Amino acid sequence: MKKLDSCYHSHTTRCGHAYGTDEQYVQRAIQHGFKVIGFSDHIFFPGVHQPGMRGDFSLLEDYKQSVLSLQEKYRKDITVHLGFEAEYYPEFDAYYRSLFTDHGFDYLILGHHFRYENGRFPIYYAAAKNASFIEEYANGIVAALKTGYFSYVAHPDLYMLGYVGGWDVHAIQVAHTICKIAKETNTPLELNLGGVNGRGLMHIAGEYRFPYPYDGFWAIAKQYDVQVIIGIDAHAPEQYAANNWQILYDIVDRYQLTLIDRLTFKKPR
Ligand SMILES: [Zn+2]
Ligand SMILES: [Zn+2]
Repeated sequence: MKKLDSCYHSHTTRCGHAYGTDEQYVQRAIQHGFKVIGFSDHIFFPGVHQPGMRGDFSLLEDYKQSVLSLQEKYRKDITVHLGFEAEYYPEFDAYYRSLFTDHGFDYLILGHHFRYENGRFPIYYAAAKNASFIEEYANGIVAALKTGYFSYVAHPDLYMLGYVGGWDVHAIQVAHTICKIAKETNTPLELNLGGVNGRGLMHIAGEYRFPYPYDGFWAIAKQYDVQVIIGIDAHAPEQYAANNWQILYDIVDRYQLTLIDRLTFKKPR
């Protein structure tokens, strides 16, 4: 059993679907031998409300202060970083930059969950009804990684959660598109535990499986020799104690993936 001692993907109750205090996440991580963690709550966008999915922008100062105070309080035991998990929407370009320059964020990870239109999120890429939506998902990731703002791609295989076509020619092409841009921009891809912890085994497009990670995707990731990182995607402090990440290490071994456990943060140039 390999031991995980870093995780850059952790949420807080501000998103509306996570549990526990910020401090409990840090304490559980320390108890279970973690040396580095990062808070990457679902990004708050100015003027945008998406209750149950992400916190409102008014919570930004509270989030920052909480993470920075925990960083200081526990610095002898663990390194705590400040981040967000964010979709990429070009209309918020200045805002992403300001998180680094004005608000002291260490990093962003790309979790490209939704289409954005005028303050609303009409399409969820994890419930794609046709191929054009997963192609849009892939194109969004390409645009995002070209900005250089994102230190890694969270659950790149998220689209396999609900795509009605299953592992068809379109899904395979989407995997190639994502892995190719990851390689070109030297951006790691995340093997994410959220599909195991959150949903468990499901019937999806004729298969009975975890929604993600999706094996076919990682076989293609190997072809591009991308870097891979493990993320718990913690929505409760206990997920730091679960010791159930062997399923992800098994994928690393099965496809001989290049695993990293410390992240080099990307910043706007
Ligand atoms: Zn979440
Ligand atoms: Zn997440």
